[in-house]
Amino acid sequence: MIVARQLTKDFAGPEGTVIRALGPLDLQVAPGEFVCIVGPSGCGKSTLLRLIAGLEQPTAGTLSVGSQTPILVFQGDSTFPWLTVYGNVEYPLKLRGLSEKEREAAVTHKLGLVGLSRFAEAYPYQLSGGMKQRVALARAWVADPEILLMDEPFGALDEQTRMALQRELLRLWEGAPTSHDARKTVLFVTHSIDEALTLGDRVLVMSAAPGRIIKEVRVPFARPREAIQLKRDPSFGELTYELWQALA
Ligand code: ADP
Repeated sequence: MIVARQLTKDFAGPEGTVIRALGPLDLQVAPGEFVCIVGPSGCGKSTLLRLIAGLEQPTAGTLSVGSQTPILVFQGDSTFPWLTVYGNVEYPLKLRGLSEKEREAAVTHKLGLVGLSRFAEAYPYQLSGGMKQRVALARAWVADPEILLMDEPFGALDEQTRMALQRELLRLWEGAPTSHDARKTVLFVTHSIDEALTLGDRVLVMSAAPGRIIKEVRVPFARPREAIQLKRDPSFGELTYELWQALA
């Protein structure tokens, strides 16, 4: 679904200098795979997602990405403040021209999955950070992209809210197949090794800038996963150690 070969991105620095933000980096992600990326600050993780989303053009190398434009979910507030929770989640379906009845069924279902049914008529200013990220998740799911790119979506949340959001994301992703008759392909950037092991099929570690992939770990835990139970698994500790070593 995603193939990058020797993907490189340079930016113009001060006084005619060139700053290499990424690469050369090789990456392959299979359809329906959930891949997490960890790496030090400034190593080019956001740049990689922005290249895959088509928001930046590579300086060198090649990149091929599914047949649709991916959706990017990021850490900040991406809700539309002038729309209710319902209106926010309904928005992509309106763009696609679905009937009101079709929209209502899809939006109600997704709001239920992220625990926001009672807040359908609320406006974003009335919501906590965690609830806004739930709106972003529901909106991404209702849009039903082949590829979902997530750039530290839960990074600004407290630990308990973050765990709740991880559970909801797992429930969405592991749940009903999409219209493409498969799970979505997800590329998820996080600072948290714990989060990467909780969510991913694979965890990739990037080097310090300019980022390349220096380690890959296959995550052995069966699905559906229960985030809290995973932490009792002895291999959770082993893999955490292995990933920390790579980052160090
Ligand atoms: P990460 O997401 O891993 O923290 P980024 O992809 O945001 O890293 O940034 C990688 C490097 O590229 C950093 O040194 C950053 O300053 C630089 N960079 C990112 N975007 C731009 C830009 N638009 N112009 C110049 N430099 C940039």
